[in-house]
Amino acid sequence: MSKKQDKKHQQQAAEPSLDFSKALIYTPAPESSAHIRLKKQYDLFINGTWVKPSKGGYFETINPSTEQVLAKVAEGTQEDVDKAVKAARAAYENVWSKMPARERAKYIYRIARLIQERAREFAVIESMDGGKPIRESRDIDIPLAANHFFYYAGWADKLEYAFPGKNPESIGVAGQIIPWNFPLLMAAWKIAPALAAGNTVVLKPAESTPLTALKLAEIIEESGLPAGVVNIVTGAGATGAAIVNHPDIDKIAFTGSTDVGKLIQKAIAGTGKKLTLELGGKAANIIFEDAALDQAVEGIVNGIFFNQGHVCCAGSRLFVQEGVADKVIRKLKDRMASLIVGDPMDKNTDIGAINSPEQLKKINEYLKIGVNEGGEVFQPNCSIPSKGYFCKPTLFLNTSQSHRVVQEEIFGPVLAVQTFRTVEEVIEKANNTPYGLSAGVWTDKGSKIFNMTTKLKAGVVWANTYNKFDPSSPFGGFRESGFGREGGLHGLLPYLNLR
Ligand code: ADP
Repeated sequence: MSKKQDKKHQQQAAEPSLDFSKALIYTPAPESSAHIRLKKQYDLFINGTWVKPSKGGYFETINPSTEQVLAKVAEGTQEDVDKAVKAARAAYENVWSKMPARERAKYIYRIARLIQERAREFAVIESMDGGKPIRESRDIDIPLAANHFFYYAGWADKLEYAFPGKNPESIGVAGQIIPWNFPLLMAAWKIAPALAAGNTVVLKPAESTPLTALKLAEIIEESGLPAGVVNIVTGAGATGAAIVNHPDIDKIAFTGSTDVGKLIQKAIAGTGKKLTLELGGKAANIIFEDAALDQAVEGIVNGIFFNQGHVCCAGSRLFVQEGVADKVIRKLKDRMASLIVGDPMDKNTDIGAINSPEQLKKINEYLKIGVNEGGEVFQPNCSIPSKGYFCKPTLFLNTSQSHRVVQEEIFGPVLAVQTFRTVEEVIEKANNTPYGLSAGVWTDKGSKIFNMTTKLKAGVVWANTYNKFDPSSPFGGFRESGFGREGGLHGLLPYLNLR
């Protein structure tokens, strides 16, 4: 460095207004969306082509961080669903169920490869449409979605080995309805095992996040998958209900709220349709005194705050053993103070936008309820953008089992904290909700982990980690969190008849 440059450098470093450490950490690092090409309007993907909705209705999908309209999307009617089911039935009878399994596998592999090729585009659209931080969609949602297609492509021609001596057979047409929290990943969880098992599909994405499913339809077109094997019908609850109630559907796979799950179960009772439900949750994250506390605090933050708490398995209840409670809460507050809430497209962002104004309203109502119940609120002193739907990460301290913020699913970055003394006490408290989807245990003792996993009523129990997913491991719940498993060998079962 020359003397002149050195002097200039020193002057810059001495700039009194510049907080150098913050500037280094928080300089925005936005992902570009310049390469994204969205159509103004999306039709329905039925029988391998784009079809206008029968009643001509379209709804807007917006970017929840900017409130800007991204595109208009077709509102599928009962008539449209009927068209899609007819296409799926014809494709099932004439093509897909007759095709050798190794040929089916090739198409599924091709879809996986095409998702990988367009991963960046998908990640950006996922964050624009859903509000989740680009880091999450880039590193988790999109790679996992591709991996699900890869994983199930591998099973397509090995079903007899998966279920030896059971003569596995496809079941027909699957109706699949998915929510807005993991739009592409949920589509992959549903479509990949259905196709591998030899079924055809009518899938409805959530009305607030339809874009990546429609982009997936473009990939399906490009992959040369025979027409009608996968049909994507957009719309809201009425479109979903038309799928559920269609008489020529053999299986319904639903992920969403417990209320709608119950409606669906009632609607198909006695019809002979197969059903899997992946519903709400109120997961307990349990920290024992012997845990690695910093690691545990990071896991708690990951479990509830990253991704805005928009995860059905979000660790929304924290149980801390009394001896370390003060320490853990202090560390948690310190960590929360460093979380960045804001632009989902910024690679530094930890907490993006809440998915919709309705969801933000619901979260804010719960914040009031928690205060009225006597909970002590902590929110870090962070800034949030003035436009868009955002919520600060929130702790509720001094809560008890009867509080609604402890019992009910909020689906936002809100963590209810309680303490415990004994293993028996925490098991009782952790199991004391109507749900049973997931839980987390933080301890140094392997024996404690095994004890907890057998006693916690949860489909998944993570130990010394949280929110880890892999296509080969099954996921699903107990009680009001639903039934049936997705992922792994278990994820094939709902799409097969075994004899
Ligand atoms: P969330 O609270 O996560 O939005 P919902 O259960 O309302 O969960 O929505 C999940 C999915 O179910 C969405 O695709 C939605 O359009 C669909 N849906 C909503 N109501 C019904 C219904 N009565 N029948 C079938 N699907 C529905």
